[in-house]
Amino acid sequence: MRFRSLRFATISISPARPKTLLHLRRFLSSSIAARIPPPMAASEESLRQALAEKQSAVDAQAHAVRALKARPGGAAQAEIDAAVEALKALKVDAGAAARRLQAALSNNGDGAAASSREAFRQAVVNTLERRLFYIPSFKIYRGVAGLYDYGPPGCAVKSNVLAFWRQHFVLEENMLEVDCPCVTPEVVLKASGHVEKFTDLMVKDEKTGTCYRADHLLKDFCKEKLEKDLTLSPEKAAELKHVIMVLDDLSAEELGAKLKEYGITAPDTKNPLSDLYPFNLMFQTSIGPSGLSPGYMRPETAQGIFVNFKDLYYYNGNKLPFAAAQIGQAFRNEISPRQGLLRVREFTLAEIEHFVDPDDKSHPKFVDVANLEFLMFPREEQLAGKSAKPMILGEAVLKGVVNNETLGYFIGRVFLFLTWLGIDKDRLRFRQHLPNEMAHYAADCWDAEIECSYGWIECVGIADRSAYDLRAHSEKSGVPLVAHEKFPEPREVEKLVIVPSKKELGLAFKGSQKMVVEALEAMSEKEALEMKATLESKGEMDFHVCTLGKTVSIMKKMVSISMDKKKEHQRVFTPSVIEPSFGIGRIIYCLFEHSFYTRQSKAEDEQLNVFSFPPLVAPIKCTVFPLIKTQKFDDVAKIIAKSLTAAGISHIIDITGTSIGKRYARTDEIGVPFAITVDSTTSVTIRERDSKQQIRVSIDEVASVVKEVTDGQSTWGDVMWRYPTHSAAHTEEE
Ligand code: AMP
Repeated sequence: MRFRSLRFATISISPARPKTLLHLRRFLSSSIAARIPPPMAASEESLRQALAEKQSAVDAQAHAVRALKARPGGAAQAEIDAAVEALKALKVDAGAAARRLQAALSNNGDGAAASSREAFRQAVVNTLERRLFYIPSFKIYRGVAGLYDYGPPGCAVKSNVLAFWRQHFVLEENMLEVDCPCVTPEVVLKASGHVEKFTDLMVKDEKTGTCYRADHLLKDFCKEKLEKDLTLSPEKAAELKHVIMVLDDLSAEELGAKLKEYGITAPDTKNPLSDLYPFNLMFQTSIGPSGLSPGYMRPETAQGIFVNFKDLYYYNGNKLPFAAAQIGQAFRNEISPRQGLLRVREFTLAEIEHFVDPDDKSHPKFVDVANLEFLMFPREEQLAGKSAKPMILGEAVLKGVVNNETLGYFIGRVFLFLTWLGIDKDRLRFRQHLPNEMAHYAADCWDAEIECSYGWIECVGIADRSAYDLRAHSEKSGVPLVAHEKFPEPREVEKLVIVPSKKELGLAFKGSQKMVVEALEAMSEKEALEMKATLESKGEMDFHVCTLGKTVSIMKKMVSISMDKKKEHQRVFTPSVIEPSFGIGRIIYCLFEHSFYTRQSKAEDEQLNVFSFPPLVAPIKCTVFPLIKTQKFDDVAKIIAKSLTAAGISHIIDITGTSIGKRYARTDEIGVPFAITVDSTTSVTIRERDSKQQIRVSIDEVASVVKEVTDGQSTWGDVMWRYPTHSAAHTEEE
């Protein structure tokens, strides 16, 4: 939730799909390499500087021409002509400098690249919508912004992603999975802070009332200026880039001040904007018919786990650490949903709450991920305007860049999860939260961000939230949500005991006595020991009581402070929680983009779309095509389909009789990795989607071969060695 010396050998996780990357790169041109805007690329800075100089030379010359023309008595015509010629030459120079800058901006990913990204996105989204991966909800009634349905292939991809999530996290770590209601009573979300603080800052068009997210307006303004305003000075351009970089770190006051400073108006009407104010993102409802029991649709699944902590801890044999997990819907009434599946009003979250002793955040399996190397973006690098850099996870933890091993362990596991799903590791980075972005109680937070055509998108938040949530629910519910550490031998401990004398305090402070007593009892150990020393040496001491808003004088007889020795058999403490929180829809959308490419048809007259999903996430693992329409091939196809079902492999039979090339193209477009073509009654071919290579396999073996490659026991390369390759008797053009 956002309220706002060891040597490690490096292993590299090689993406299994170099081909995909190649195609995608080509599609996006080299611009995709432009990551978060650098503070100011050297050439861009010098080009802006050159343009500013040329422009001021033009201004000075224009001034000189005007002065000559206005000279009393008149300047000589020849002198004026020479000055005008010089002005023209300077204007030509300035024009050339402007064009050079424009070209540099395009190459930096700011101009032409934006339209190529847009074209790529359109191609992906058109395919996704046409093949029913997803559909705007309630489409026949013109839809509702921020609500989407998954169609059949989308549902299948989502269910594969969730199945892998369960296997990779829940099964691997023996997590306790729960399933809690979406409707949540107000008291729970008051305790968690959502009722008060789960807000975004909003501004309204003063005339039409249209609402906008304040930070979005500021970001859009800065981006547009950077892309289109060639007269920006290098200093101003650097400033705007910096604003984009620290946007999440700005306080409400700073954000409001920037909107005013830049004179930002409503984007559609150019009307003035209201002051900014907070808008709570939760959908409110009431539970039961009386209307007396307010509730909300949960904005995250985590609270369901926190409120069950006591029972889950007991279920786990009263032992720490342990993790609970939940997959479910979350609801956020986003102010301006945009970017398709990336910012929606109802979405699937998969969350883990890993409870750990705050004094020991080591992780026994950290060694398993310590050697991973991937892009990390620590806060210092962000503030210095640098880019994300490859770091070895073990070193990042050792150097304290990542706060602790358990947080580091989850960062590593998230990296593996995403890359095994098919996310391109070169377009995945872990970005540390900036100081203001992180809740005050949090120890450290990192977001897994994936780059897609919309830029870098936060897809997984991984936060060490310390003991905040359990403490908050303990206080509100009165049920202690704590853990116990039994000592092998009782331990003698010193405990601070503060005993205010109610009689003396009553005489001295009368009606204010209660407030003074509470303030004395709330003193920290350090404050109490200082008071004890002062009272012993001076007999009295000034003491500030916040609830009274004044300082009172405390006499020695009014309070007794001592350190008493006690035997303790156990330590009672509130566990810290480390929370990886996965936005499933965002991950899936990025996966769609990272998997999409186009290739030419054999006849070179058509661009064919392909989703190169790894078998793990492919919506359907295999198709069965009788090569020609005859009863005997249809019968073989049915036998194969039966054996695929028995092996648990999702498949479809296409007996439409259209050309085999068309049938391949149709299933490539929904990312089916393998196609079985029935061209005889004894053996068939299996075709791999991306390489288009084919092998010949006997009918008895075909299901087990497909199972091997879809389960990940073997790669396509492995099985290629074992079976004869099929020399394209029936190929794409058929
Ligand atoms: P948060 O609790 O705000 O850190 O969100 C947890 C995760 O939920 C984020 O990392 C996103 O992946 C996802 N998420 C947050 N808001 C939305 C939204 N409006 N639409 C889709 N996914 C979201």
